[in-house]
Amino acid sequence: MIHEKDGIHIETNEKVVADARTAKGDINFVSHAHADHAAKEDGRFVCSELTRKIMSERFDVEMERYENSKIELIESGHIIGSTSALIDNQILYTGDFSPRDRLYLNGFEPVEAEKLIMETTYGTPAYRFPSQEEVEKRIKDWVADSNGPLVLFGYSLGKAQKIQQIVQKSTSRDLIAHDAIKNMNEVIEKHTDLEFRAKPYDKNKDVLEENGILFAPSRSSQADWMKKIVDKYGVKKAGFSGWANTDSFRYRGGYDETFVLSDHADFDELVETVEKVNPEKVYTHHGFDEEFASYLKREKGIDARALKHNQSSLTDF
Ligand SMILES: [Zn+2]
Repeated sequence: MIHEKDGIHIETNEKVVADARTAKGDINFVSHAHADHAAKEDGRFVCSELTRKIMSERFDVEMERYENSKIELIESGHIIGSTSALIDNQILYTGDFSPRDRLYLNGFEPVEAEKLIMETTYGTPAYRFPSQEEVEKRIKDWVADSNGPLVLFGYSLGKAQKIQQIVQKSTSRDLIAHDAIKNMNEVIEKHTDLEFRAKPYDKNKDVLEENGILFAPSRSSQADWMKKIVDKYGVKKAGFSGWANTDSFRYRGGYDETFVLSDHADFDELVETVEKVNPEKVYTHHGFDEEFASYLKREKGIDARALKHNQSSLTDF
């Protein structure tokens, strides 16, 4: 019995609740420290030590971490500290994942399981991404070829650090970061070997008068303060996401340039993951969940279905 309400609920002899905000099971698992998966209450969780540290500081919750013999953690290659969970050696819950080696992250290496519960953000063939090398080269070339100031937008935990790692190695230009990103940089620097050389935006805005580069959270791409910066300094804006595969991403963010830099598996990588896990049954969630489940049934003959929010348990179907 597997269903989705607040998080994913997996009924074994003990109930496992994964990535819930407040719901609790006998065992509570957190895959990574993104807000949409974040526990909003104190408690005891099975998760990686890095996830616990980042979440405790990011959301100011008291998280106690423990190990449980039912659950094996497997690095999922999504962001720092992210893991999948193999439950009872039978059920693999991926959480957000990417099989690509990227900068400081190793890609997810799936294991075989009878049941697979997987995120399918990009579960449709429109989302096939270029290679990591190609994307990084495009980013470096674009930065090198642009003369004026730039603002590079990415989610403050995960994407923003990858953009910084790519850019800071390839340019000597002044780098500054918005608070939301700077705070995450500091948490990550405290717990890993990574270093970020961006200075705080507030105290160093003047570098945008020359050819400085600002790292800003994606949610600020159309904010009023950003519009003022664009008017005042004539900056160019770039967005980074798997969604950059389509034109609407550029339009919605008001970007001058976009790059397909993703922390998720693309369509082909989702299919390869299913083949490696070789499950009897697949449950999909997030993004193109129904499309991907239909694809698996139609093209691969695999028993698959989408978990939908608020649906009753599977025994009702
Ligand atoms: Zn995530």
